[in-house]
Amino acid sequence: GAAPSAPAKSPRTRAAELNRLLNTYAYQYYALDDPQVTDAEFDRLLRELQAIEEVHPELVTPDSYTQRVGGYVSEQFEPVRHAQRMYSIDDAMNLEELDEWLARTDEALGSTPEHPVAYTCELKIDGLGVALTYRDAQFVRAATRGDGTTGENVTANVLTIGDIPHALARAGLARVADGGLGQSVEVRGEVYMPKHSFVRLNEDADAAGREPFANPRNAAAGSLRQKDPKVTAHRDLETFIYAVADEAPLAVTTQWQFLQWLRDCGFNVNPNAARCTSAREVHEFCANALAHREDLDYDIDGVVVKVDSFDGQAALGFTARAPRWAIAFKFPPEEKRTVLREIRVQV
Ligand code: NAD
Repeated sequence: GAAPSAPAKSPRTRAAELNRLLNTYAYQYYALDDPQVTDAEFDRLLRELQAIEEVHPELVTPDSYTQRVGGYVSEQFEPVRHAQRMYSIDDAMNLEELDEWLARTDEALGSTPEHPVAYTCELKIDGLGVALTYRDAQFVRAATRGDGTTGENVTANVLTIGDIPHALARAGLARVADGGLGQSVEVRGEVYMPKHSFVRLNEDADAAGREPFANPRNAAAGSLRQKDPKVTAHRDLETFIYAVADEAPLAVTTQWQFLQWLRDCGFNVNPNAARCTSAREVHEFCANALAHREDLDYDIDGVVVKVDSFDGQAALGFTARAPRWAIAFKFPPEEKRTVLREIRVQV
C-alpha cells in the first residue's frame, strides 16, 4: 500500500490558515508596498481557498479573503468613501477558464450567430487602481481603491502626475446626455510607473543604500502613497484610464464608445484594445498581447475582457468582489524579476 502520510488538515483548519496567510501577505503588498511572496504564489493560495469554499460553502464567511476586495486604507491619508464600490476582477488562469467564462456569458446574454455578444479586450495594466473625481468638469479629488468601499485621499499626490487633465476637454463634454454631467463624474484607471523609470529608481535606491522596490507596480504604489507629495512629484508616474463609476449621464452605451469618450475628455487611454465578437478573436488578442508584452514600457499581467454593452453589464451585475461582466485572463508569471532582485541584493 501507499506509505502513510501526515493526517490531512480539516478543510476548516486549512481555510483558516489560508485566510491568515492571505491577509498577512496582502497587508505587506497593499499597505507596505513590500510583497513577501510572488503574485503567482499569492494567487495559488487564493485559488486553494476558493476551491475549499466551493466544496464547503458553510466555510464561506463574510470576512473570508474570497469575499473581499484586497487593499488597505492607511491612516496617513484621509479616508474617502467611494460613492460606487471599486471592485476586483475574477481571474482566468488559462484558455479553458477563459472559454468557460465566454460561453457562460454568451449564454446568459443570449448570444446568437446573427447577434453575437461583443467583448472589449484591454491590456491589464499592472499598476494601482485610482478614482478621479471631476466636479463641473474640474479635477477635484483622487482616491486609491483601498478596500473597495473606502480609499485613501491622494489628491495632492495625483496632482503631480503630468498626464491627468485638470479639466475635462470640451470634445468630451459635448458627448454628455441631456442634463449634463450633473454635480460630478468619477473616472477610474491605473497609475503605473514606466519600466525604464523603475529601473532608474532602483539604481538610485541602490546607490543610496535604500531597499529597491520589488517591481514597477509596487514602485508606483509606494510613490503615489507618499505623505509628502513632493516625493511623488520626483517619481515618474503615468496613467491609463478605462472606467467610470456611473455611466448613466454619458451619451455612450458601450465600453468601446466609452474609451473614445475618455480620449475626447483628454485622458490617456491605452491604444491596445479591440472589440471582439468571437472566442477566436479574444484568443488572438490575448496571444498578441502576450507576444508583445516585452515591447511595452509598462508591465501588464494579463488581458481584461469586458462585456462591451453597458446594458449587458447591468444585466450581469456584480458578486461580492468582482463584476460578472469581466474576466482577467492572467499571463504566466514573469520569474526573471525575482532573479533580478536577488542579483541586486547581492551586489
Ligand atoms: P487585480 O489587480 O488582479 O485585478 C483588478 C484590478 O485590475 C482592478 O482593480 C484595476 O485596478 C486593474 N486593471 C488594470 N487594467 C485594467 C483594465 N484595463 N480594466 C479594468 N481593470 C484594470 O486584482 P486585485 O484584487 O487588485 O489584486 C490581486 C493581484 O494582486 C493579484 O495579481 C495578486 O497576485 C496580487 N497580490 C499579490 C500579493 C503578494 O503578496 N504578492 C498580495 C496581494 C495581492
